[in-house]
Amino acid sequence: MPKLLLFDIDGTLIRTNGAGRETIRFALEALFGAAGPVETYKFSGKTDPRIIIDLMTAVGFPREEVEAKLPAVYELMAQKGQEIFAQRGMRPCTGVPELLTALRERDDVVLGLLTGNSQITAPIKLSAAGIDPDQFIVGAYGSDAMNRNELPQIGLERAKQLTGHSFNGKNTVIIGDTPADIRCARAGKAKAVVVASGWHTVEALAQYQPDHLFDDLSDTEEVLRILFAAQEND
Ligand SMILES: [Mg+2]
Repeated sequence: MPKLLLFDIDGTLIRTNGAGRETIRFALEALFGAAGPVETYKFSGKTDPRIIIDLMTAVGFPREEVEAKLPAVYELMAQKGQEIFAQRGMRPCTGVPELLTALRERDDVVLGLLTGNSQITAPIKLSAAGIDPDQFIVGAYGSDAMNRNELPQIGLERAKQLTGHSFNGKNTVIIGDTPADIRCARAGKAKAVVVASGWHTVEALAQYQPDHLFDDLSDTEEVLRILFAAQEND
């Protein structure tokens, strides 16, 4: 039975240097003529639809109108991303290229993404940081559900459809960089592994009691040991 690994993107696999915020501002200004409190709003751990709805309802747009325009917002964000990501110095987080290389050599793993990004933006971001998006054969995206805690179930179902293996939380690890990733892993009954390479310190993340906490992913052997450690009823 392979292990399903679902990686968050921003702050976990790559550093985006504020480029995501720039694409949201561009898309909202184009479609709504306003971007709301985009400069001060905390993006970390939130899905794109959550961010867009919060920003636009904060300046008075009816939620229904914002929801109806979500696909158009995703489209413009992706377009802007294509244009600017390459120039924003986006790069993989420490240890990520080495870890992915090691994972590609194994046949007991199914690699996937679990991210607040929309399905069309995720591969553009990864490519801009030099990570091949095609190695992740499963994906659960912000464009699938506004509530991040619904994404594990979507990822598990897609992994089953794709591989024929019946995945559940017991053979699944969610790797992220925020308290929201830990909550989301708990919602999917998956193992929660977090890395303090994003916006949150080790001390801040420890308060949410993940199953494992890394400063960064540079010790490939140790990361592999944790990811493939036996889980309850594994
Ligand atoms: Mg993140």
